[in-house]
Amino acid sequence: MKTALANLEKLKNGVRNIPDFPIKGIQFKDVTTLFKSTELLAIASKTLTDEYRGLGITKVIGIESRGFIMAPILALNLQAGFIPIRKEGKLPADVYEEEYEKEYGKDKIQIHKDALTSEDIILIHDDLLATGGTMHAAYNLINRIGVKKIYINFLIELEDLKGREIFPKDTDIRSLIKYSI
Ligand code: AMP
Repeated sequence: MKTALANLEKLKNGVRNIPDFPIKGIQFKDVTTLFKSTELLAIASKTLTDEYRGLGITKVIGIESRGFIMAPILALNLQAGFIPIRKEGKLPADVYEEEYEKEYGKDKIQIHKDALTSEDIILIHDDLLATGGTMHAAYNLINRIGVKKIYINFLIELEDLKGREIFPKDTDIRSLIKYSI
């Protein structure tokens, strides 16, 4: 228990904060400093894998682009497949898509139509939960396709933005590191 808490503290200290990036007022949480450390990458990988082991997860979905770093690692560790959710126009085969509101204008994410089956138990991963708009769109997309169960994971949650509150109450949302901003 002590080690687990110490490890989470190490991860938290490993994320670099960049004030006013990309625009004034944003405290940007830079995960590249965490990933470049062999020790921190191993801690993140083991902690997340332990969190989701034994749940029967069949596919780990990563959201472009920072979700593409941990998601394949988790997929491999959990003996699951990896599926990308990408921005509009990047996936080559037939897609389902979901449009969502961003701070300025709209955005679209897509997934291959043949990526999932109704038997899949899904873990969707992204690096960070802010307002929740991006993950909510991914959640809606997967829900529309119809799978057995959806788990949602983030490395980082910006708690003050209350992103988790836009999901249905019983949604399984877990994050490793929490910050108030
Ligand atoms: P949101 O849809 O508001 O939850 O924003 C989540 C997405 O935007 C994630 O893919 C993050 O990578 C990125 N993001 C939003 N806010 C930040 C932040 N303060 N630091 C780093 N990434 C962020």
